[in-house]
Amino acid sequence: MRALTISAHGGTEQLEFRTDIPVPEPTPGSVRVRVQAAALNHLDVFTLRGLPGVTITPPWIMGADAVGTIDAVGHGVYSTPGDRVVINPGISDRTCEYCRMGEHSLCTHFGLLGEHHPGTFAEYVVVPAGNVRTIPESIPTERAAAFTLATLTAWRMVVTRAAVKAGDEVLIWGIGGGVAQAALQIAKQRGARVWVTSGSDEKLERARQLGADETLNHRTMKIGREIRARTGKRGVTVVIDCVGQDTWKESLTALGRAGRLVTCGGTSGPVVETDVRRLCWNQWTIMGSTMGNDTEFDAVVEELRAGRLTPVVDSVYDLENGRAAFDRMAGGEQFGKIVLCVAS
Ligand SMILES: [Zn+2]
Repeated sequence: MRALTISAHGGTEQLEFRTDIPVPEPTPGSVRVRVQAAALNHLDVFTLRGLPGVTITPPWIMGADAVGTIDAVGHGVYSTPGDRVVINPGISDRTCEYCRMGEHSLCTHFGLLGEHHPGTFAEYVVVPAGNVRTIPESIPTERAAAFTLATLTAWRMVVTRAAVKAGDEVLIWGIGGGVAQAALQIAKQRGARVWVTSGSDEKLERARQLGADETLNHRTMKIGREIRARTGKRGVTVVIDCVGQDTWKESLTALGRAGRLVTCGGTSGPVVETDVRRLCWNQWTIMGSTMGNDTEFDAVVEELRAGRLTPVVDSVYDLENGRAAFDRMAGGEQFGKIVLCVAS
């Protein structure tokens, strides 16, 4: 089958489009999905560069997000071949104590498609049956492909972890990205006022069309000080920070008393500094968040089916041109999701 693979870590020159990858066979409890389209995430760029503790087996198939149709099922699976599905890229063992509590992204064997398991940038991918949900044909393929990882991540951050509600003031960094855009839409649904940042005025203008109340250019202003000035020193109640090293200090400057900060990682770097005196005096809550559990997956897919949440698609590339798609993501030029069309 056709697939976008790597055989070694490095830059985008390592990406290799191949046509000789064997079609995987469904294992017991799993389904094989014939992929229509897949989407890029920052995760893919990190996997390409190499992550500590993660070992790939060449030729390694990249990719986490996808939409496709079930093409074959393993023993003990009652899904119907032909069903159109989106895939939850978070793979759990479904047996450990966290899984039994329904917290699949805390699984002691948690892993992601494209990072720990063969990914979705291929004609076929095999995933556990519990990791797919059916969606109607009416949802455009590129939007369905771009949906799950970013929206599921944002949902857990905004709804489950930060418990954003009406009256909250929410700061979201880097509104060009998929998680940030999903977080904006979800926070607005819940009645919050939302502040967003970008280094591009053009992206900020587009964020206004998505519902952002306040837009801040982080290249031209100090975000923390600006927010304190505009809120009478009160700050925001919630910060959604996926950038990490470059934004942490400003996130904490912007965060008001009893504020909640949720992070899903550090795209700019992993190590941050927190003044513990301000943490205790302001009674902040700093939370981590990763992907989502089955209940959250059900919730976001219902939002997709109902048309209440829909990702912004930046651009679509053929699988053969996957390297150009990675270059666009690595360059930070995109507003929304970059999609790979897989079906020939
Ligand atoms: Zn588990």
